[in-house]
Amino acid sequence: MSEQNFDIVVLGAGSGGYAAALRASELGLSVGLIEKGKLGGTCLHVGCIPTKALLHSAEVADVARESAKYGVTTTFGGIDISAVTAYREGIVASKWKGLQGLIKARGITVIEGEGRLVSPTTVQVGDDTIVGKNVVLATGSYSRSLPGLEIGGRVITSEQALQLDFVPQKVAVLGGGVIGVEFSSVWKSWGADVTIIEALPHLVPNEDESVSKQFERAFRKRGINFTTGVRFQSVVQNENGVVVTLENGATVEAELLLVAVGRGPSTAGLGFEEVGVTMDRGYVLTDERLRTNIPGVFAVGDIVPGLQLAHRGFQQGIFVAEEIAGLNPVVIEDVNIPKVTYSDPEVASVGLSEAKAAEKYGADKITAYDYNLAGNGKSHIIGTSGSIKVVRVNDGPVVGVHMIGARVGELIGEAQLAVNWEAYPEDIAPLVHAHPTQNEALGEAFLALAGKPLHA
Ligand code: FAD
Repeated sequence: MSEQNFDIVVLGAGSGGYAAALRASELGLSVGLIEKGKLGGTCLHVGCIPTKALLHSAEVADVARESAKYGVTTTFGGIDISAVTAYREGIVASKWKGLQGLIKARGITVIEGEGRLVSPTTVQVGDDTIVGKNVVLATGSYSRSLPGLEIGGRVITSEQALQLDFVPQKVAVLGGGVIGVEFSSVWKSWGADVTIIEALPHLVPNEDESVSKQFERAFRKRGINFTTGVRFQSVVQNENGVVVTLENGATVEAELLLVAVGRGPSTAGLGFEEVGVTMDRGYVLTDERLRTNIPGVFAVGDIVPGLQLAHRGFQQGIFVAEEIAGLNPVVIEDVNIPKVTYSDPEVASVGLSEAKAAEKYGADKITAYDYNLAGNGKSHIIGTSGSIKVVRVNDGPVVGVHMIGARVGELIGEAQLAVNWEAYPEDIAPLVHAHPTQNEALGEAFLALAGKPLHA
């Protein structure tokens, strides 16, 4: 039984929590970082990093299959899942080692175990009492299911999907959002027959509608099956697989059902409500400065309503550390956070969709320009199609950028600066974009919106 005292106690060492700890320690604050699992949380161990390793393996499989098109003779011999696993685990292990070293080097005290908030300043971990002048709640999220849909056996979440030691031949995926399409893309490239079931009218439904439609065309062309606008009704498991029934009576038979219907906040039973933290359906409510209703208690990451993204968590963690240190950091707004859907093709966006911009400013007060990647040399070379749409307020700033095509996630940086700095297309149009890059396509869209289209 012991008591330890810190300037900041952080509960949960995922993207949000460890970023808060690292920044706070840089600012000279003492930090106790409580973690019941592994430093790095969901993103590093079962989220962003391992899934992107799978996607890279999928891309390599596609390259091998299509190499003759580029004059390279190879034979695609299939997927060696144990080698894929070794590659994926090696990447995670190396990043994990790096993070552990960094946290140690910064003098952060790591407390292993499950913490429970017992007062506005105190977290109990087993027999140990951890006291902080400030407490940051960062306990993350879990894969949600639907009412009556039990996870188990052949009905799996993304965590089990990552650990599969075989390549499924036939998979059903419930949910056509980021996680659902990511795994669908991987399994298709590895040779599986994939069917996605999405209740909303489109796949990647949170994106600009024109992008969602192009995405559907691209998935259809790849032979990925999907139904949209129809709800899941039930699933029956048998010896060989699952039979999924939809509300319209249609059925999908598969070896496995991946449930990818979103993530819920991991806050149950952690004492937050008992201590008086205001919550809504398990989420911790904060103001824009990430303060809960209890002075000195902050929350970051997936437990705060809004986008559930690692980079949002990182930035919120940095924000809270600076807020506690009295540096008055700039408020983070979800609309200005870039989103990338990693699949083939990729989708990347920041700011308002065309529809949302029209709603906010009036349809006659905005202009959207959609540059087709068919006009971009580098896209031709790497064999991708797609588009980059830029939305501006007339005689005003860029308020949204929406891209689809191979590797467009790597182009989001410039778009993000344009939206966040409220740049006018006329400000960016004179900047020289390197040729031949896909980035040029973004430059072309800015040129067109500035009234001087080049290749459009
Ligand atoms: P988490 O990373 O979930 O960390 C919370 C930590 O708190 C965990 O380590 C947990 O063990 C610990 N914890 C919980 N309760 C307690 C307790 N009582 N005591 C002690 N410790 C506790 N985001 C992206 O930006 N890009 C991507 O490409 C991406 N891909 C994803 C792919 C998948 C399959 C999944 C599932 C998620 C993906 N995400 C991605 C989302 C990203 O992983 C999350 O947004 C991010 O991890 C949230 O960070 P967090 O700090 O809020 O929570």
